[in-house]
Amino acid sequence: MAKRVAIVGAGVCGLASIRCCLEGGLEPTCFERSDDIGGLWRFTEHVEEGRASLYRSVVSNSCKEMSCYSDFPFPEDCPNYVPNSQLLKYLKMYANQFNLLKYIQFKISLGIERSLNIVLYRRHPPPFPFLRTETR
Ligand SMILES: Cc1cc2nc3c(=O)[nH]c(=O)nc-3n(C[C@H](O)[C@H](O)[C@H](O)COP(=O)(O)OP(=O)(O)OC[C@H]3O[C@@H](n4cnc5c(N)ncnc54)[C@H](O)[C@@H]3O)c2cc1C
Repeated sequence: MAKRVAIVGAGVCGLASIRCCLEGGLEPTCFERSDDIGGLWRFTEHVEEGRASLYRSVVSNSCKEMSCYSDFPFPEDCPNYVPNSQLLKYLKMYANQFNLLKYIQFKISLGIERSLNIVLYRRHPPPFPFLRTETR
């Protein structure tokens, strides 16, 4: 049976983590506290607790060749320094291309209780014993 892995957040790193788990034969579940992917790169008019925010006109300060996933380049017609809306579009393309969305559970905030980690793990192995989830 494949080992299960919990991933916190469906931003740039969370999406890559899901994919790496799948490639490694693991069974990932990604918990995202908001209602969509993209993390920092998803601009909203209002500030969301726990999610870094951008202003509407932010452009990435690292070029697209340096910022892309290594096997998934930005589209040719994308500017060299990518505006946040296009970066979000790129992340959605990545998630769709590798079929990652089905591994994400939205609107779940995940807390890690480090002090109880080992005790809970031993007593209750499945499914994510050291994690406390709450819906918001
Ligand atoms: C103001 C600012 C400007 C930046 N500008 C650039 C730039 O120009 N170029 C560049 O390359 N990088 C930039 N960065 C770095 C940026 O952090 C990375 O580009 C990238 O977004 C990091 O991805 P991440 O997945 O680690 O985190 P994030 O994009 O922050 O995503 C984290 C996700 O996890 C979710 N989450 C957090 N905690 C929990 C929880 N407990 N339970 C469930 N879900 C949770 C959040 O809702 C969010 O969706 C900037 C960062 C900041 C703060």
